[in-house]
Amino acid sequence: MKKTTLLKFPHPFKAALAVCSDIDGTSWENFLAIHQFLNSTAQTPLGKGVGLNISDSFWMFDQVGTPNAAFSYFKNDLGQPSEKAPMMRELMRADILDVMHGYGNFSEKLCFSRKMAEIALEELDKHKIKIRVWTNHGGEESEQNIGALSAGRGDLYPNEKPFNSEQCVYHADLLLKYGLRFYWDCERALTNVVGQNRKANFAEFYWKSPLYQTPVSKLKTLAKAGMFCARKKYAELIHPYFKQRPEFKLSNLLLQEDQLRDDRLTFRFKRFGNGRLDWSDDLPRLLNDRVLETLIEKQGYMVLYIHLGDRLPGADSAPLSEETVRTFRKIAELYQSGTLWVETVSRLLNYNYIYHHLDWYARETESQFIIHIKGLQEKNSKMTLSQESLSGISFKISMDKPVLLFFKNRSLDIQQFPIDQNYQIIMIPRTNIEWPL
Ligand SMILES: [Zn+2]
Repeated sequence: MKKTTLLKFPHPFKAALAVCSDIDGTSWENFLAIHQFLNSTAQTPLGKGVGLNISDSFWMFDQVGTPNAAFSYFKNDLGQPSEKAPMMRELMRADILDVMHGYGNFSEKLCFSRKMAEIALEELDKHKIKIRVWTNHGGEESEQNIGALSAGRGDLYPNEKPFNSEQCVYHADLLLKYGLRFYWDCERALTNVVGQNRKANFAEFYWKSPLYQTPVSKLKTLAKAGMFCARKKYAELIHPYFKQRPEFKLSNLLLQEDQLRDDRLTFRFKRFGNGRLDWSDDLPRLLNDRVLETLIEKQGYMVLYIHLGDRLPGADSAPLSEETVRTFRKIAELYQSGTLWVETVSRLLNYNYIYHHLDWYARETESQFIIHIKGLQEKNSKMTLSQESLSGISFKISMDKPVLLFFKNRSLDIQQFPIDQNYQIIMIPRTNIEWPL
């Protein structure tokens, strides 16, 4: 039997992209216009939809009049659902809203408490909705934020016991118990490298990144490279709640196991981008031809950092600029041609995680090949592998016999694609998201 391999991406794609947008400043009307264009193939005010798997983030709590206000699930801090709540649940079930951008848009300290985390997670649980991805929002004022690099306190275990949930902001225990798997911490953790989970040299982290095109910006990154060497000290100096963690290596992995400051284990992911290029109008520059070509050539994974619903000051009133629309059309061509896998944030991170941790083996009988998927290798992980989470998993296997695939002793439906005289690819079928409203 020739060697069987688990593929880095679902067949037939060569690279993967997710657009991970923070919801800051996005009105409901603009959200609908942007996502009908991105997710459907219908005629929309931005032209014919591109039918891409692009998801977004959301807030459970927000108030009209708060800086960067967007729509939200609750209409007040008491947890009364807003009129958008039923539609937001539909969008969560469709995987279109799949990232919690924190629990809410808390623009001042003392706005958030553990009680609100309880209200939010209980509400999602009540409706059997599991959100697996979290991105921190805002700066020091946003005390809900988690992770050693954030200025929040959401994962700092309070000193006083028993703690008062109306007053304390610790909530990481609730979040992980609820089922959160992946989080992103802050702008300082953005990467300049096009494509993760591929070999990259030191220069690509800095002056060779296509994000820096002018000599001045390239020089600035040289200074940053110097700063990297003093990074630990730097974090200690400026960070009010700094707590030493195992060294964060200069790695190019998309996902890294991470210990929160309350010692709980989770995974943090990288986003590609720059804190000064995070408006919707910056998207054509962030995903320019050179970036897309590099991503595909290097066969990387990439999760883009952007605020899709936030136009630059002085921009026209359209939900997206014409250039951004053109860029999405280009990306849709790469997706439709089977080159670039464009996937929602949660599904892309899930596939990446499974690719690295799947426990499987292949065997041969007289008449067939059999692949057995046993589960996940990760001993510490509380994640359980569902059949749904295997969507798109692809194997390259010998051509000369039929293949069966078992997961927990159940045979799964597979698609088969002959690729040459020696090999075929089998894939657990993958579905595209569907616009539900
Ligand atoms: Zn934000």
